Amino acid sequence: MEKVLDLLILNRVKFHTLSLRGRVVLSQLPLSITMLFLLVATWISDAPILADPLFGLSMVLNAVLLAACFLVPWDKLPYPSFLLIPLLDFVAIGLLREGAGSLLTGVGLLAAFPVIWLAASGQLPKLSVIGGALATLAMVWLPVLLKDTAVTFEVLARPLLIPFMMLAIGITVRVMTASTMEQQRVVEAKDAELRTLLEASGRRERLLSAVMSAVDVGVLAVDEDGNAILRNRRQEELRRLALPPGDEDAPESRLELYADGGSTVMPVQDRPIRRAMRGESFSEYLMWMGRKPGQRVLSTSAQAMADDSGRREGTVLAFSDVTELVAAVEAKNDFLSSVSHELRTPLTSIQGYAELLAMTPGLSPNMASGLDTILRNSDQLLTLVKDLLGTAAGFSELQPVPADLGVIAAQAVAAAEPRAAAGGVMLTAQSEGDLGVFCDPARVRQVLDNLVSNAIKYSPQGGNVTVSCTGGGGVVQCRVADEGMGMGAEETQNVFTRFFRSPAARRSSIPGLGLGLALSMDIVERHGGSISCESEPGAGSVFTFTLPVAGPPRDNDPDGACCRVVPAGAQPKP
Ligand code: ADP
Repeated sequence: MEKVLDLLILNRVKFHTLSLRGRVVLSQLPLSITMLFLLVATWISDAPILADPLFGLSMVLNAVLLAACFLVPWDKLPYPSFLLIPLLDFVAIGLLREGAGSLLTGVGLLAAFPVIWLAASGQLPKLSVIGGALATLAMVWLPVLLKDTAVTFEVLARPLLIPFMMLAIGITVRVMTASTMEQQRVVEAKDAELRTLLEASGRRERLLSAVMSAVDVGVLAVDEDGNAILRNRRQEELRRLALPPGDEDAPESRLELYADGGSTVMPVQDRPIRRAMRGESFSEYLMWMGRKPGQRVLSTSAQAMADDSGRREGTVLAFSDVTELVAAVEAKNDFLSSVSHELRTPLTSIQGYAELLAMTPGLSPNMASGLDTILRNSDQLLTLVKDLLGTAAGFSELQPVPADLGVIAAQAVAAAEPRAAAGGVMLTAQSEGDLGVFCDPARVRQVLDNLVSNAIKYSPQGGNVTVSCTGGGGVVQCRVADEGMGMGAEETQNVFTRFFRSPAARRSSIPGLGLGLALSMDIVERHGGSISCESEPGAGSVFTFTLPVAGPPRDNDPDGACCRVVPAGAQPKP
């Protein structure tokens, strides 16, 4: 009953959410209740129509129809079969109208109930409206036609008002229902779309949380103010390493983070989250977390997020534990450094004594040529050892001073002349434009020596090597081109990787360790410049490096290059 009141009066229950049976019963109820009210009123007033068989029949039919609404399994029958009930309602109303005669006026207007039901059903829209009006017409005309009295125009016209009213009611209801149904359809479509979106977003969230717990990388998302909006378990574990003893809730500024090999406290403004708050994106930024001996080294990267309009929304930071990698790199560097030192001392002494011996007057040709071979080979060995030492120790600070790239190139070319002549290679130097540059000349010379020496080494007899320097547009550029063995595309890509040697270079007996170009790239990048290689097998190679005239970036370490770990065998970041 409460449901009925809810629906009829308070409208708290949504009609379309009820079962088909519920909807049929509720559609029939208004007519049945009205007829029941009529029966009770007639019975109380003891009106004579109570005895009329047609009146009684209409009441019985009404009761039967209401019972049918309850009992018939409408959802198992073909869909609009329930419309039989409003059609039969016209019969019950017709009988009531006839039974009541002139004692009850306006009974015919009860036809409005089945008319509204038919029109609002949404089934066969036009037919149900016309059907409602025709059924009302039949309801008022049939008694006239079935009676023995003469059928005149006036007799037929008198009750016509009721069918016309029902037609108007039917049309009105139909129009209103159509627009409500359309609105409902739109709402339902939106509802379905929202549900699909909600499901997809739920799926994405589950996926994200699975990925976040599966990865062994700490992930932290922060908003523009640096507040954490998402962090995974691994990040929580890593953060705990940096908490000051006894302070579980320490803010980010009080975390124990270190730079420079784990010995210096990392200034607050250099911490990854602070950099992220400034909108910086970076990668491979090293930071040491916590105190020794449990200290871990983390490589951090940050990627700024922006909304569709480009407004900054925050940053995602990733923290990977590279402690073992850093330890391995340090061990390798220590090893290379000590081996190189041990080799350099006896080699220098061999070279010194060989030079002294070579100056002895009256040496036999055999002795002189033997000493020359010793000198050449020890020279080569020393170069290799220097490369190894350079790789192991890196180099400390650049010493930039105003210099001229043309002069440095000319010196490198002059120094390489004897080697070029010995290999039958024609060496040419060209300069154009203003070549003044603020740089560390010793380091730039190291780059040039390496490029020129490679160009000679990997050129056949009779090959040409050209060193050309140009200046302009705030940069100076140097191009070292040869017509030597060249390399394939894949080899060219790896040429700046430490210890890389092309298969052709390895097959030939040309000595080398694959370190010179990696060192050269390091030097050029520390100057804020870039280096590249173009090559074709059999056609030669061109190495080009560019330096900014203004010199290295002020802090010489724009994105933590000083702290970057480049494992052996990996391509240094361009
Ligand atoms: P290496 O001491 O082996 O020359 P580098 O780092 O200078 O070491 O060069 C790395 C590798 O790149 C070389 O071993 C060689 O295979 C290739 N390479 C460098 N320069 C040239 C060149 N001018 N022509 C052909 N290959 C070259």
